[in-house]
Amino acid sequence: MTQAYDLHTHSTASDGTLDPTRLVSNACAAGVRVLALTDHDTTEGLEEAREAARRVGITTLGGVEISVTWGGMTVHIVGLGIDETEPRLQSGLKSLRAFRDWRAAEIGRKLEQAGIEGAFDGALQYSSGRLVSRTHFARYLVERGRSGSVREVFRHYLVRGKPGHVAGQWAELEDAVGWVKAAGGQTVIAHPARYKMTRTKLRRLIGEFKECGGVALEVVSGSHSKDECFTMARHAADYGLLSSMGSDYHGPENPYIDLGRLPPLPPLCVPIWSQWDEDIRKAAMAAAHT
Ligand code: AMP
Ligand code: MN
Ligand code: MN
Ligand code: MN
Repeated sequence: MTQAYDLHTHSTASDGTLDPTRLVSNACAAGVRVLALTDHDTTEGLEEAREAARRVGITTLGGVEISVTWGGMTVHIVGLGIDETEPRLQSGLKSLRAFRDWRAAEIGRKLEQAGIEGAFDGALQYSSGRLVSRTHFARYLVERGRSGSVREVFRHYLVRGKPGHVAGQWAELEDAVGWVKAAGGQTVIAHPARYKMTRTKLRRLIGEFKECGGVALEVVSGSHSKDECFTMARHAADYGLLSSMGSDYHGPENPYIDLGRLPPLPPLCVPIWSQWDEDIRKAAMAAAHT
């Protein structure tokens, strides 16, 4: 089912494979009417996305997906409706990108120790001079025939306990929420079912998130099963949080995730857009009737 809202997507500004212009035109062709570009730890693609959206006649929101360390794990916080010129947000994101640069060199060094040469330069090539993600390493290792897929590279090389894993510290939850709030945006816990936390731990995360000013859960995600959507809808309702939806699209290479191809929010959800400007909601409604 196509949804008019897709509030979690990536471009070449981080680890997506389509540039913002192409992402926006594909989203429009897929029936998306309100799109948020939410690249990892950068707002670099937003200006281009806005211009492209103007041309094709859809609405974009300023977005970002911030890497956070919480409870010994990496958790992603999506910010929606941000003013990306806000200095606190930018200095926070800059510190995360500095950590990414350091980590990329470390990953390269560790892979070299494991007998894989040239991974750092290879990843840099895949990132085309923008921020470096583990995804860029994975694409290079697939190219070199080390594994059959990006997924497999993660499993064999890049996750905890594997030769290319580098531990580190991303943003504090409270800081990430604070940066987005300072920039006038709303925060969403991205793909909450993907962390495979126990129910108790997830509810502790949601509770702390709400306490520091978080507003929504990404109830519908391209990486959630139907059951997980319903479970997350219940958690959102229990905590009085709003609900968001986003594909987490990274490009056409992944055949399982497409722009706007999502189930609807379960009925008990209060959509994050219920409090947005009427113009935005009208744009989405118009699409629903065509
Ligand atoms: P990074 O932020 O550089 O640590 O990379 C995290 C990104 O890698 C995520 O946003 C996903 O796009 C991707 N990713 C993480 N785990 C996997 C996995 N198991 N298989 C494929 N891609 C993954
Ligand atoms: Mn990613
Ligand atoms: Mn994520
Ligand atoms: Mn994402």
